[in-house]
Amino acid sequence: MIRTRFAPSPTGYMHIGNLRTALYEYFIAKHAGGKFILRIEDTDRERYVDGAVDIIYKTLETAGIKHDEGPDVGGDYGPYVQSERQNDYMKYALMLVEKGEAYYCFCTKERLDKLREDGDTGVKYDRHCLSLSKEEIEENLRNNVPFVIRQKIREGKTTFVDEVYGEVTVDNEDMEDQILIKSDGMPTYNFANVIDDHLMNITHVIRGNEYLSSTPKYNLLYEAFGWEIPTYIHVAPVMKDKHEKLSKRNGDASFQDLLKKGYLPEAIVNYITLLGWAPKENREIFTIDELIEIFDIKGISKSPAIFDPEKLRWMNGEYIKAMDFEDFYKMAESVLKNAIKTEGIDLRSVAGMVKSRVCTVYEIPEMIDFIDELPDYDKSLYKHKKMKTNEENSLDFLRLIIPVLEKAENWDNDSLYEVMVQTAKDNGLKNGQILWPVRTALSGKPTTPCGASELCVLLGKEETLKRLSEGIEILTK
Ligand code: GLU
Repeated sequence: MIRTRFAPSPTGYMHIGNLRTALYEYFIAKHAGGKFILRIEDTDRERYVDGAVDIIYKTLETAGIKHDEGPDVGGDYGPYVQSERQNDYMKYALMLVEKGEAYYCFCTKERLDKLREDGDTGVKYDRHCLSLSKEEIEENLRNNVPFVIRQKIREGKTTFVDEVYGEVTVDNEDMEDQILIKSDGMPTYNFANVIDDHLMNITHVIRGNEYLSSTPKYNLLYEAFGWEIPTYIHVAPVMKDKHEKLSKRNGDASFQDLLKKGYLPEAIVNYITLLGWAPKENREIFTIDELIEIFDIKGISKSPAIFDPEKLRWMNGEYIKAMDFEDFYKMAESVLKNAIKTEGIDLRSVAGMVKSRVCTVYEIPEMIDFIDELPDYDKSLYKHKKMKTNEENSLDFLRLIIPVLEKAENWDNDSLYEVMVQTAKDNGLKNGQILWPVRTALSGKPTTPCGASELCVLLGKEETLKRLSEGIEILTK
């Protein structure tokens, strides 16, 4: 059975690149009827942030991903919090020491700093402690001299095949005898990921390609234990542009940032899945279930994907269009209430007008700001080539329609539309020659979320007539 895992570090922040990895892990497992496991990688105590684990749960839940096993739901191989598995790691590290595949290192920080400064071995550890005698080691341990445990890298070359990047070969010469257990007894990521992935029966490891070059070291560990090496799927980073990775500084980098900007979780999931993965069919909108159905490792791209906020915005707009009206209204209600101070405006009808026109609910206020107050506008707004209106004839058209609207008895959309179109017809005009000037006078804006008759209904008779007269004033100035 395919088992994948999401292994976030609780940093208090869910980068969308990380969330995308989680999605790919989820899709790959679920596509094959396998399991998706959550593992909290918190061995770096300095980076630990309170409440960060909850952010991870919340993110997965909001994104619509349900993990099968994890710190909160248990599972056969738990606990799934690395700091709670501490003893396991030490046990396995000592097994390697026993096999001659790892060794105690008692070098002080001062010695290591000096080594780095002198630069004789580059940034690599010089294997000073590899030559300690058994007696020396035992004495140090007896005297509680602080130590780390290092992997002893064998000579030769290490090759593996990554599902995305193909064959990767690294000369073992280029690898350092990396630390497996730190002086605080905690494992490094480099050690813990191997032990955990093995003990949790992970079959497919999906992670950022920054781990591609370390993977040979992990494979040497698997081999040292005699364990099966998992399938690797390394994915390229999400970029801000051609040169820079998308980072916290850019503002759009986390799931939380995007939610705050009014993007829907479904749209974010859809969009970031397509960042670095392409479906076979020429389509862009997919539900999470459809993605499970069609996800194929072969569609993952080697090259970095550029995060395009405009594209996400567009996609969000598509999701809003397709949304059930009541759900949209629930989401938009507070924004509408804040944006409209005028009494008696039917918020539901405004919601209906903007639903197909906004990409996020936060675009609503600007679109409807004319409701509370007619903005200052220039009379050139009346000019519209297609509608065949200009500053001169619009004055005539407004003068023509005002008395008709004054007399109108039924102030509803259909009746008002009818009356305006009829007036145009009776006077040998195009519909737009009446509708456009009315729309302009009522909104003072080049684009409105609805047509002239709907604007009349929205504003009510009194305000409509007031704004039409103001239109005449502006046109006669
Ligand atoms: N904790 C690591 C990270 O957040 C996980 C890498 C992996 O998936 O192995 O980058």
